[in-house]
Amino acid sequence: MNAFIKKIQTALNDRGYGPLKIDGKDGPKTQKAVAAFQKDAGLEADGLVGPLTENRLFREQLSVISLDGDGSTPHFTRAEFACDCQGAYCDGYPGVMDLWLMLKLEALRNALDAPVIITSGLRCEIRNGEVGGIPRSKHRIGQAADLYAPGIDINRVASIAESLGLTTILYLEQGFVHCEV
Ligand SMILES: [Zn+2]
Repeated sequence: MNAFIKKIQTALNDRGYGPLKIDGKDGPKTQKAVAAFQKDAGLEADGLVGPLTENRLFREQLSVISLDGDGSTPHFTRAEFACDCQGAYCDGYPGVMDLWLMLKLEALRNALDAPVIITSGLRCEIRNGEVGGIPRSKHRIGQAADLYAPGIDINRVASIAESLGLTTILYLEQGFVHCEV
């Protein structure tokens, strides 16, 4: 499965060019939907996603969530993703949350129609080591978040996250799911 193709398929579905199965395969249906989008956007309708098409496909979505400038989104504040070393090793923001991840978390929150609690967002290198994170953990670069939704089966949260194109690791006993892009 190709994560980039999944991202494209999801965006096309969001814009009404589906329904496409989010399978990460660049098949005829996906290419046809890409071509239809390109035609409407005034681009060459070749069905291939190059930089121009990608930009057009995601530009509006990204600008919506970066509007207020501090990285907050309609349902999440920047502080919810702060490193939890409590200021011991960093100022709480050793990186910036990835916009694509934030967009997905918003979509997850909307799909669940319930609050989503972030248990870990950004982590500085030292804190990441302390909590046993892998050295190249995506938490260090804002591309991962651990979360749960109170009252909702964690398996369900994970499967919806997957359907939205997030890569997940389920921590059943701890009751949270790691989501990354
Ligand atoms: Zn820290």
